[in-house]
Amino acid sequence: MNKLIEEDLKYIWHPCSQMKDYETLKPIVIDHGKGSYLYDVDGNEYIDIISSWWCNLLGHCNPKINAAMKKQLDTLEHVIFANLSHEPAIKLCQELIKVIPKGLVKFNFSDNGSASVECALKMAFQYHAQTGQSKRTRFMCLSEGYHGETVGALSVGSMDLYAKIYKPMLMETIHIEAPDCYRCPYGKARDNCQCECFVNAEKEFERYGAETAALIVEPLLQGSAGMRIYPARYLKKLRELCDKTGVLLIVDEIATGFGRTGKMFACDHAGISPDIMCISKGLTGGYMPMAMTITTQKIYDAFYDDYGKGRAFMHSHTYSGNPLGCSAALAVQQIMREEHILENAAETGKYLTAKLQEKLADHKNVGEIRSLGLINAIELVKDKDTKQPFDAKLRTGYQIYKKALQKGLLLRPLGDVLYFNPALNIDKETIDKAIDRCIGSMDEILK
Ligand SMILES: *Cc1c(COP(=O)(O)O)cnc(C)c1O
Repeated sequence: MNKLIEEDLKYIWHPCSQMKDYETLKPIVIDHGKGSYLYDVDGNEYIDIISSWWCNLLGHCNPKINAAMKKQLDTLEHVIFANLSHEPAIKLCQELIKVIPKGLVKFNFSDNGSASVECALKMAFQYHAQTGQSKRTRFMCLSEGYHGETVGALSVGSMDLYAKIYKPMLMETIHIEAPDCYRCPYGKARDNCQCECFVNAEKEFERYGAETAALIVEPLLQGSAGMRIYPARYLKKLRELCDKTGVLLIVDEIATGFGRTGKMFACDHAGISPDIMCISKGLTGGYMPMAMTITTQKIYDAFYDDYGKGRAFMHSHTYSGNPLGCSAALAVQQIMREEHILENAAETGKYLTAKLQEKLADHKNVGEIRSLGLINAIELVKDKDTKQPFDAKLRTGYQIYKKALQKGLLLRPLGDVLYFNPALNIDKETIDKAIDRCIGSMDEILK
């Protein structure tokens, strides 16, 4: 065995892994990356079709981001962000405010997605406490939602896979049954339903609205749940319901932000603005751990007072506003603009969807191909007519994952949902190659 692999297994506890699996599938030691490609220490190539956990936005080792960070590195690497500031952070806010939903004007910096969610929850809670609504102490979320894996974020998530064992540690939250468009209980279609399932939200709001501080949702796309997509109309209705009941709307755009869904933010599809928005992942193009919790003037003002009143938001992270992260994020915004990334990605997204439909729509195990921007998911089922899933024990998605690695494709299926979520500047030739490798792997496992 390669010495590096041996040493890896000796020391490293990899994230979100049953380490026993590594007995049969050894860790792949990556040497370098370029664009949508990764290369291991033995020179094998892998197409990174999942943009390395959905964060790599503009390719690996993007020359412009590299240059921006190198320049920043020789100027200022980090500085305490309480009372002190720096130009990259200030400029970044100036740039972001041009592209984020209207009304969001105050930026709180942190260093990962879960942290930005924790920040949002605390912000919403304290806002109500300081505006005479101290009864609003609870949180609502959608079933099958995912908002990260720290204790607060897990509490507002509802995937048993991540949360079940920790339930006694978590706060009690209110779960609204989420839209399930592929298996719609009303027998409707995603594109032309009347959001019949919205009664589930109305029911919970009726019961718990008055004691709820905020509702948190992944807009349009429940990523970890298997790239479940719901209509923009549903999000719009949630906004209206929140307005009517005084519940704050927290939108978690960590996975959907920065063009992933075909628009800059998923909220833009619904034409809404949240009260609080969380962003991370694509923010720095996948270069640096960085996140933001962005909010309105109204919420900010509820914390603004003489020091002695004790109304400040006493929330901080050591690496808040890290200048290297800000320089990467600034470069990302510049590239998005200069290289017309959104327009090009829209075109590539259509191409990818059309190709998948052409090659897989009739496949006996492809239940649904669903698309939102460049994100395209393939839900595999045992029986297409009844939508019956495969027996989970077979780990069908995982078998395909292993096969695809041998063929030079990095997938990371969510159960039996395979998905493409590539860098926005991926080229069509690479997409073609990725589709061939994906189908080749599916065929060998599903034959
Ligand atoms: C990834 C993700 C998070 C958590 O971000 P981390 O940086 O992994 O903590 C939260 N919400 C959504 C929607 C995500 O996709």
